[in-house]
Amino acid sequence: MTTSFQGIGISTSRSLALGPAFVDGRGGRSVSLTLITADQVALEVERLDQAVAAARHALKAVRDQIPRHTPINIADFIDTHLLMLEDAALVEEVRRIVGEQLCNAEWALQLQRDALVRVFDEMDDPYLRTRRDDVEHVVQQIQTFLQTDAPPAELSLQDLEGRVVVARDLNPADAILLRHRGAVAFVTELGGPMSHTAILARSLGVPAVMGIHNITRYLRHGELVLVDGETGSVLADADPHTLAHFRERLRAIEARQIRLRGLIGQPSMTRDGVEISLLANLELPEDVDLAKANGACGVGLYRTEFLYMNRRDLPDEEEHLATYAEIVANLDGIPITIRTLDLGADKQVDSVTDLAVGVSNPALGLRAIRLCLKEPDLFQPQLRAILRASALGPVRLMLPLISNAHEVDTVLGLIEQTKRQLDRDGLDYDPRLPIGAMIEVPAAALTARALARRLDFLSIGTNDLIQYTLAIDRLDESVNYLFDPTHPAILRLVRMTIEAARALNRPVSMCGEMAGDPRFTRLLLGIGLRELSMQPGAILDIKEVVLQADSRKLKRRAAQLFARLDDTDPGALIDALNAA
Ligand code: PEP
Ligand code: MG
Repeated sequence: MTTSFQGIGISTSRSLALGPAFVDGRGGRSVSLTLITADQVALEVERLDQAVAAARHALKAVRDQIPRHTPINIADFIDTHLLMLEDAALVEEVRRIVGEQLCNAEWALQLQRDALVRVFDEMDDPYLRTRRDDVEHVVQQIQTFLQTDAPPAELSLQDLEGRVVVARDLNPADAILLRHRGAVAFVTELGGPMSHTAILARSLGVPAVMGIHNITRYLRHGELVLVDGETGSVLADADPHTLAHFRERLRAIEARQIRLRGLIGQPSMTRDGVEISLLANLELPEDVDLAKANGACGVGLYRTEFLYMNRRDLPDEEEHLATYAEIVANLDGIPITIRTLDLGADKQVDSVTDLAVGVSNPALGLRAIRLCLKEPDLFQPQLRAILRASALGPVRLMLPLISNAHEVDTVLGLIEQTKRQLDRDGLDYDPRLPIGAMIEVPAAALTARALARRLDFLSIGTNDLIQYTLAIDRLDESVNYLFDPTHPAILRLVRMTIEAARALNRPVSMCGEMAGDPRFTRLLLGIGLRELSMQPGAILDIKEVVLQADSRKLKRRAAQLFARLDDTDPGALIDALNAA
């Protein structure tokens, strides 16, 4: 019998995976009360101690396996959790509650968790308040090992080679770590295709299917799972025929990858000789190798948020500079666009969470450039480091979430001040460092001309542009079905931005996920886009389309499509354009 689950699929260039499940039930399961008798207390306490020991063992194993070059401070995190496992305030109290209230260890642990969380919640110090999360994580670890159907210790977070990780939710930092430990796919209950974890999964080449409700309850540990990131389905317990068919598809994908590699040396040009720049989006410094291997002619978006993840302190100027200098050196003269900090909303980190406490709608709040302008201590070290990195190779600076021209003027003023400081400090930078903005807010697209006039380039961030135009939270799986790059409003805003930039002779690119999806390449070429930036694994798929395209024909067809946009389903129009 085949058990099948349907969720929201996130296609990746290698979008199928097959492997035994690792079900991470943390956070998904409710804890219930079981009363025990006085003579069962010793046994219950022993069960608790065993779970604590297993959690400690698992955490130590994780710490020992952190790859040496991981750019984020995961080890410090784990050490904090190990210390908490030794802490009398947690475990000793739970033992006491078991004995006093004659209840099961899970229940006692939950009571103690609630008591500690209350104390942390009442604290004024924002740093101490973040310790609340540590309590949650450590309690979850112990609960995992207490619950009977939890993974046995040898399967705990240390051995994920070839496994499909099934979890309630995954944050981007988890995704990095799980990939390093050999996970071949992610399946989650929460999240959507434009969440940061999904984007990262694509970049890591890991198929992911998100938004499958209660999946952690239905799948069993070790069960063979087929993950289809193209259709968004997850199959368990597949029959031999289905399994054989799936393996056949996996082989076909491998063969296609090998064939695509033949395109690497070829110039990226349409049949009628128009050059199309294909650039890479970088999540982590090590993605540079993949970008170069796929023939990227530049980096159109380097997301710097990962410098801030899994740590409590903030990177200083020298750390920023060392990271950028290494990437610039590895790129061997290929230009890189460094995006300034885009923290907040879907990109939360521990060092700045206190700034967002109590915010009811973080996506519309103090994120990205807004946060940077409000917190100069956060922004200045990065600005100085990007400027200094520009002395080492071709660097561009890009601003996220710009929503009005005044913000641009303010940042340009700050950059000028920073240059004067660097002059005084005798430090080198490129005085002509190109500065650009992302077009991710409808207001920015509608005023693209005013922004382009002040800047050297624009880049369209469709992930946020879609979120803000269509009023759908990119993290909320319940409204993901509305996430539609072909919505007429999106197509018009994209075209409007391209036209505004071209009218002023400013380069314009697209670095949202739409740029790396071959279904949209012909349309984007047809409306005049000549620069596309995407996860490195998508470059050859897009190049294949570019090589077969005729830009003049596509321009005519795109104009026809726009003329019919209000009368016909845009998806059908795009299919017709692709088929022509
Ligand atoms: C975007 O919004 O399209 C984008 C590229 O930025 P991010 O996904 O990092 O928000
Ligand atoms: Mg964005």
